[in-house]
Amino acid sequence: MGQNLRILSVNAHPHDFTHYAGTLGIHAASGDEVTVVSITTGEATHNEALHDELMKPEVERDPAIINQRAGDYSAVKAKELEEACAIFGITDVRILGFSQPYRVSLFPESIDALRDVIMETRPHVMITQSPHTATRNGMAARMPDDHEETAFMSLEARSRAATATPGDTVAPHTIAAIYYPGVYYQNDEFDFVVDISDWFEKRVAAENKYISQGHYPAWSRKRMEVSLGNAGWFAGTMYGEGFVRDKTELVPRITVAESALRRATEPVGDHYERMVGERPPTD
Ligand SMILES: [Zn+2]
Repeated sequence: MGQNLRILSVNAHPHDFTHYAGTLGIHAASGDEVTVVSITTGEATHNEALHDELMKPEVERDPAIINQRAGDYSAVKAKELEEACAIFGITDVRILGFSQPYRVSLFPESIDALRDVIMETRPHVMITQSPHTATRNGMAARMPDDHEETAFMSLEARSRAATATPGDTVAPHTIAAIYYPGVYYQNDEFDFVVDISDWFEKRVAAENKYISQGHYPAWSRKRMEVSLGNAGWFAGTMYGEGFVRDKTELVPRITVAESALRRATEPVGDHYERMVGERPPTD
C-alpha cells in the first residue's frame, strides 16, 4: 500500500469514536496520522451516576453526586476519551466543547471551528457521524439529534475547507474520502468491513474506560462480542467494523483485497477457525 494517510475522526460525543477505534488503531500502528475530535464534552449524555442518584428519594441522595458541576463531569469525560484514544495509539485528541443539545443552528461558529481543524490537519480521510435519517428503531425520524447535527456540520465544514475564503492565509483543502461508521446502518448497507479481530481486546479495554457511562468489564465484553461479532460474522471474520461511503469512489481498476483472495482458496477448517478461534473437531 505505502500510503501515508491523515485521518480525521469527527464525533458528537467522546464515546462515538470507539465504534471504529480498531480501524483507527490499525492506521495509527502503520504510521498514519489520526486526529480525534469530539464536538461536545459529552457532559449531558449518559451521566449514569447522576441518573441513579436522582432516582432515589431525596433524603438518600449523595450530595457529592447531586451537586457536581458540569465542568467537573466534562473533565472526567475528557480523561476517559484521552485514555481510550491512547489504547489505539492516538494522541491528537481535541474536544471543541460545544454544549448539548448540540445543534448547528445554536452554534453556527462550530462549522468554522471544525474547518480550522481541517485546514490545520489536512486529512485525506474523514470519518464522521452518519447524516442519513435514523432508522425506524433508532431515534425518531426527523427528531434533532447530536450525531446527525454533527454530521451535517462536518459536511458543511468539509465544503468550506475546500473553498478559498477572503482572509485565508492557507490553501483550501479537499478531503479525498469520507466514511460513516457502520454502527448507524444495517449490515447490508455496509460498503466494507475492516477486520479488527486482532484488536478485540483493545476495543473491550476502551469500553471499560467509560466508567461515567456505567460501563463495567462484563458489560463491555458482551457489547463488543455482540456488535463487533455481528459485523465480523456478516463479513466472514471474527470481529469487524463496518463503514459506509459518503459517495461512489472513482478507482483506476478493480482491486480485490488480499484477504478476499486468501479466503477464496482457504480450506473450510481454516475459515471456521478464523471466525470462531477454534478448529472444527476432526472425528
Ligand atoms: Zn454519541
